[in-house]
Amino acid sequence: MKRAVIVICDGLRADMVRRDVTPNLWVLATDGHAFTNHRGVFPSTTRTTSASIATGCLPGRHGLEGNCVALDEGDGLVALNVGHPDFRDRLRKATGRTLRVPTLAERVADHGGCIVFSNVSPGAAYFQDPDGHGYLYHRDGSFGPGLTPLPDSEGLAVSHDVSGDAHMTEWFCEDVVAGRRPALALMWLCEPDHTQHAVPLGSPAHLAVLARTDDNAARVIKAVTESADGDDVLLIIASDHGHETVDRVIPLESMLIGAGLKEGAGSHDVVVASNVFSAHIYVAPEARARIADIVGFLEAADDVDQVFAGDDLAKVGHRTDSALAISVTAKRTDDDNEFGVPGINGAFEDPLSSETRIGCGQHGGLGTFEQHPFLAVRGGGFGLGVRSDDPTSAIDLAPTVLRHLGLPLDGMDGTPLAKC
Ligand SMILES: [Zn+2]
Repeated sequence: MKRAVIVICDGLRADMVRRDVTPNLWVLATDGHAFTNHRGVFPSTTRTTSASIATGCLPGRHGLEGNCVALDEGDGLVALNVGHPDFRDRLRKATGRTLRVPTLAERVADHGGCIVFSNVSPGAAYFQDPDGHGYLYHRDGSFGPGLTPLPDSEGLAVSHDVSGDAHMTEWFCEDVVAGRRPALALMWLCEPDHTQHAVPLGSPAHLAVLARTDDNAARVIKAVTESADGDDVLLIIASDHGHETVDRVIPLESMLIGAGLKEGAGSHDVVVASNVFSAHIYVAPEARARIADIVGFLEAADDVDQVFAGDDLAKVGHRTDSALAISVTAKRTDDDNEFGVPGINGAFEDPLSSETRIGCGQHGGLGTFEQHPFLAVRGGGFGLGVRSDDPTSAIDLAPTVLRHLGLPLDGMDGTPLAKC
């Protein structure tokens, strides 16, 4: 029987996988098939990437444009945090649906099924399977097919930290990988991302959590090997994005108000949705005549790097015909932080999140290192000791899983990972 097991180590930069810190991931990357030029999507945020991993599609296709998006629920555009447990239902109510394309959970529902264990935000977890085609386990609520709530005794009661990740990993290995053996088993660890938001990259506390994340990955690698029992198991261990160091906060909304390009705080004409190292700017129909002036203002702003508007939005994976009118990244450098970890970036102020700390890690833009997540694969006919430098993307994981399971790959932006 063919099965697939995916482990996502949230926020793990490829260059943080080192022999001395993460020996098990290092061995997987050197003895398995490593993809050394793996990229995230834009913005490099967890919830957006979760939907891209689940669907094999870019954000413009699946519709989850950022960790923070603007939604019109009847009273005009308002910025909302996608991570909240009720966001999925609000999106469905406002737009009539959740994601615009099918997930892996839907595609494998009648072909061995899907079980997801996730210890990140509820929003990122639920967008693995927003319409309830398989089983999804999360501390804020676990669901079976049809979004049927599972009893508390069967739910995933783990803490949102590295200890919770360890508890979840034990449970996942025993109950899912070795026990229930679905066609697709996916586990999403909250580390090292969770700690990287709170400590400097490369600091002793960061290296310690990398080592514990490596232990969790090692448990899954061992469980897959020991429980294969003749099955052809494709094991994918990856991250969704990396991190870079925050050196300043950019008050984009105040800047637009000060320039007379947004009516005021909380106005619905021009709405900033911060994804930290980038920001989306949504423009209501009555304000679209202002777009050219907003673009001109942003292109001249000291802290702003790239400005994507009009057809340029398609170059970074977004639609050109929605309220999302402009997206910007912050100016950054490849300089080292105090612990010698490169990548220094500016954070767009985000009133909906408290995860941004000067001197600590963040993500969400197009920076070299936040856009360079880890990816290594074993089993499923992939070579041993192979290192591929060709560009790969988060959207390539879903078609790789479907090819392994012998299911159709239609309607995806990604392509299966090359085996040699
Ligand atoms: Zn993440």
